[in-house]
Amino acid sequence: MKAIVIREFGGPEVLKLETVPELKPGAGEVLVRLHAAGVNPVDTYRRAGSHSYRPSLPHTPGNDGAGVVQALGSGVSGLSVGQRVYVNASLSGTYAEQALCARESVQPLSKNVSFAQGACVGIPYGTAYRALFQRAKAQSGETVLVHGASGGVGLAAVQLARAAGMRVAGTAGTPRGMDLVLREGAHAAFDHSSADYTAELMEWSGKKGFDVIVEVLANVNLAKDLQLAARYGRIAVLGSRGTIEIDPRETMARDVSIVGLSLRNATPEERPRIDAALNAGLEDGALKPVVGRELPLAEAPEAHRAVMASGAFGKIVLTI
Ligand code: NAP
Repeated sequence: MKAIVIREFGGPEVLKLETVPELKPGAGEVLVRLHAAGVNPVDTYRRAGSHSYRPSLPHTPGNDGAGVVQALGSGVSGLSVGQRVYVNASLSGTYAEQALCARESVQPLSKNVSFAQGACVGIPYGTAYRALFQRAKAQSGETVLVHGASGGVGLAAVQLARAAGMRVAGTAGTPRGMDLVLREGAHAAFDHSSADYTAELMEWSGKKGFDVIVEVLANVNLAKDLQLAARYGRIAVLGSRGTIEIDPRETMARDVSIVGLSLRNATPEERPRIDAALNAGLEDGALKPVVGRELPLAEAPEAHRAVMASGAFGKIVLTI
């Protein structure tokens, strides 16, 4: 079977398309024939060898994907061969024709959702759900800022918050990104590259600030977020690419909480709740993953360059 294989850490050019042996599922495992793989920023950190989790080499990247069940290992129940599924983690990597997955990482794929869309669900929607509901305890009727709403996690947060009855503002760095954020359910969109957008956000919130802020780039925005948070506001930090100086006093005056999160830290009780909520949203159409760009598997290097570039527009997906 064909797979992208990394034999040394480095730039996008280390992602090579190879022919590798077919996979067989062990006990408790599912073999999925993939038709699409989602590209996430974390795949690039692992490729570069710079992530806290440094994979052993050779390594096939990717956690997200969608396809059909090809074979079931012993002891696996609740799935059938040929069933459409999406996966949110893989033991062998999803940039490949086949992926081995633990049973709990494989979810049924609603017929409303294409394979390319299914490959956008696992990490982005799981992280957005965990940020909003499990860490920031967002409630219907609250006002939410999704800071960085044009990318994978941000658009998922916009759709989830809107479906749950919140008032949603989202930011993007381009007019095209702002249009997309509005189209996907935000009540208002703001340009995070403009000089006075934080004043505009505060005005839009009725000068009360935001009950919940979902933050994808905390090293740039956390100090601003502390000023934009309402009394009892919660800032959910899910992405950061460096350090930042903040004034801790800003948390005191309005009882503001900063909560960090990693999807990997979801407990065995929390994880099935994430899956159940996402599957329901995909089934009833409230959640509609946005595929911004599709590239063939062999173009994984270009996909890794694109996912780290500005001007995000939904998800980048490799078709297989
Ligand atoms: P993505 O699809 O590449 O989107 C990146 C987003 O960041 C875009 O909306 C981009 O907007 C926005 N952005 C750029 N500059 C910004 C600024 N100054 N202020 C606010 N937003 C800005 O990436 P993603 O998959 O959504 O992931 C986002 C981050 O979360 C990444 O750092 C990723 O590693 C992290 N993450 C963490 C977890 C976790 O478990 N904690 C899980 C998934 C992802 P424009 O391009 O329109 O400017």
